[in-house]
Amino acid sequence: MKTIVGLEIHVQLATATKLFCGCSTDYRDDEPNTHCCPVCLGLPGALPRLNRKAVEYGLRVAKALDMEVLEESEFARKNYFYPDLPKAYQVTQYDKPLAVAGTVEIEDDEGHEKIVRITRVHLEEDPGRLVHVSGGSKYSLVDYNRSGIPLLEIVTEPDMRSPQEARRFLNKLRTILEYLGVFDGDREGSLRVDANISLEGSVRVEVKNISSYRGVEKALTFEVTRQKNLLRRGQTVTRETRHFMEGRGITTSSRSKEEEHDYRYFPEPDLRPLRVAGWVAEIDLPELPVARKNRFMVQYGISLNHARTLTGDPKLADFYEEVAHLDPALAATWVADILLGELNYRNMSIAAVPPGRIAELLGLLKSETITDAAGVQVLREMLDACAAGRPCEMPAMIVKRENLGKTMGDDFTATVQAVIAANPQAVEDYRNGKSGALNFLVGQVMKETRGRADPRELGRIVSESIDIGEV
Ligand code: ZN
Ligand code: MN
Repeated sequence: MKTIVGLEIHVQLATATKLFCGCSTDYRDDEPNTHCCPVCLGLPGALPRLNRKAVEYGLRVAKALDMEVLEESEFARKNYFYPDLPKAYQVTQYDKPLAVAGTVEIEDDEGHEKIVRITRVHLEEDPGRLVHVSGGSKYSLVDYNRSGIPLLEIVTEPDMRSPQEARRFLNKLRTILEYLGVFDGDREGSLRVDANISLEGSVRVEVKNISSYRGVEKALTFEVTRQKNLLRRGQTVTRETRHFMEGRGITTSSRSKEEEHDYRYFPEPDLRPLRVAGWVAEIDLPELPVARKNRFMVQYGISLNHARTLTGDPKLADFYEEVAHLDPALAATWVADILLGELNYRNMSIAAVPPGRIAELLGLLKSETITDAAGVQVLREMLDACAAGRPCEMPAMIVKRENLGKTMGDDFTATVQAVIAANPQAVEDYRNGKSGALNFLVGQVMKETRGRADPRELGRIVSESIDIGEV
């Protein structure tokens, strides 16, 4: 049974001020209802003034997704009542959106490239936010700091065929938005997704307001199973809106979907039609992810996998370019394979790491002053300090303090002898031709010497010591 997925994505545009007023959008650490004015509170008589930057950001996205910008687009009122919407209508775009007909390239489940078509993008205002008071209160509170934040709604065609494809699409879209500098992915709720899903021949179900990528994949996976089970039992899938409960990983029925005519859309009389198609030609786009990935492979001679990982986040790509000069391949391995893992483990962002320090570390590795194992230890020391808010120590200082400098094998003769004496079974196995036993013995010596010895050299010394013992 074919799975069919289409997405509607609400992206908060990272402008300094709101869509129709001068209130600051940076309210993260501030008290509720402190970034408000008559316009974004919807007071009678207040008039909207369109934020030029928000339009420019919308056009950047449209251009990057290869869309056709309409000669004339128009704002409209979408009428509905909800406490987070003080005007009782949302200013959005309806039948004349900013741009139509774009594409995003992703990998399908077989690893082939495929196109997801973008139906349209349009500008609209974010509503406020309801705050539900815990402890069984009879009231909910409302915070209008978010009211009027510019959103770009991006609507796809139903071109995705699995929950995994949907996740890959969102990752790709997020990367493009970050490259364009129109979006702050670290901001909570800055990207919210409504997912439409149906199984072939059945009706469509909409899962509303999912606020994470993982959430989208989880919600869709749950829906595939739920809908298949219904159909298998001979029941029908109801056309409805469902709510994703992130914590439990399930969706629940929330309300029957409003029909479009329930919103009684009509043109917003306080804003003039938007004629910005001519502006698109003047917009310069930065290098986008695919181009940067290809350049990395050519310029630095690194693998497709490394190039893909490193360009998956513009900050990471910038970081790599700052440390690549010494030895691009070594830098790619350390940044993509080792540093990223250590950052994930500590829940740290690449922004917290000074590239200069990593360049120094790469220098020590390249000159063979330290071994890879010691390099990992130095890296961990540095990151632990960063994570704890302490200054990031120079790698050379750590090497000195912790005595991690690479030492010639001769210094370890005693340790090698001790390890050989303590592991007669492994020695026996090695003599009987089991090469794994040698790795085990070398590992023991590495452990004893805290990674300061070069493993290849140690392998030679251990094997020689055993051979000599045999004579
Ligand atoms: Zn305002
Ligand atoms: Mn919307």
